[in-house]
Amino acid sequence: MQTLGVYIHIPFCVRKCVYCDFLSAPATQETQRLYVEALKKEIRENAGLYTEHAVETIFFGGGTPSLLREGHIKDILSILKIYYKISPNVEITLEANPKTTDLKKLCALKAAGINRLSIGLQSTDNNELKTIGRIHTYDDFLQTYSDARAAGFDNINIDLMSALPSQTLKSWTNTLKNVLKLTPPPEHISAYSLIVEEGTPLYEHIDCFPPVPDEETERQMYYETSRILGEYGYTRYEISNYAKQGYESRHNRIYWQRGIKHTHDYVGFGLGASSTVSCRRWKNTSDMSAYLAQTADIKEDIQTLSQTDLMEEFVFLGLRMTSGISAAEFYQTFQKSIDDIYKVPLEKWISQGLLVREGDNIRLTDRGIDLSNTVFADFIL
Ligand code: SF4
Repeated sequence: MQTLGVYIHIPFCVRKCVYCDFLSAPATQETQRLYVEALKKEIRENAGLYTEHAVETIFFGGGTPSLLREGHIKDILSILKIYYKISPNVEITLEANPKTTDLKKLCALKAAGINRLSIGLQSTDNNELKTIGRIHTYDDFLQTYSDARAAGFDNINIDLMSALPSQTLKSWTNTLKNVLKLTPPPEHISAYSLIVEEGTPLYEHIDCFPPVPDEETERQMYYETSRILGEYGYTRYEISNYAKQGYESRHNRIYWQRGIKHTHDYVGFGLGASSTVSCRRWKNTSDMSAYLAQTADIKEDIQTLSQTDLMEEFVFLGLRMTSGISAAEFYQTFQKSIDDIYKVPLEKWISQGLLVREGDNIRLTDRGIDLSNTVFADFIL
């Protein structure tokens, strides 16, 4: 039986944040209803492709999935439960943004089967939140967090973002410390650095915003994150993800381990969602009208992954995890030695201290994590 991670994209938000390049937009209740109908159809009609899979994780991402009515989430889960084999201990995560939920809704979501909540906080500084266009304040987040605990959620991730306009090292460490003071503290923290993406209002009007921290400050933020969270008992298990023991995101692990374990597949349902199943990869249409109509095939950019693609994926995805990769597993997967295929970059980065090799295991060092994109670029075949 293959392992399947299911991603469900909910492309709706109250309004766009200035840095956001995700596929999301405000929408009427009627569009949301039609979208959920289309999603259910897509999930139902593709079930025949996954009869040999057990669904280990389901992830409602966005956008703002918590914007949907609880009944919609319940309906989507019911369709999955009817048409797919769901593992008895399935992890079901929903991304929730403050000001889009309340206690009643969170209780209904818990009752529907959501057992992990990922709350988008980004910062506890109200000026920073306002500058990046978030719809909530820190107090709004505190309300959502306390409602989530009251509703019985005992596995909560908080999303944070460093390198925001006007952010200082002190305000970033304050954000971290405020989050760690929550009672009880979150089980999981994702801490990403802001990337100013082309086409976003932040990119187009960068001069109208307070400056983002310089490279040196950004690097210090990075080190402080891992130091402070480490002191509070969180283990960094991936470049930007930290968890209390036993609370690593199982869904994300399916993505990162896919390169290593080809029995791990993931399918994305919804607008623009990506899938990789066996050696095939595709993306759904990003055109809302085409998605809602579903009269033509909505799968686009269908690729068959070559052995070279799979070897690159093994290294890129595997090295994102702090546990690293195994030379023996590489050999078992490809019948080729990693030392023959990647002799030059391995020697180069090990000698420069960005990679470390202990017996069979190869992983990034702390400095390597910092410069991971430079390291990864050298592993393109
Ligand atoms: S809430 Fe998230 S998905 Fe929605 S606009 Fe803001 S960053 Fe984008």
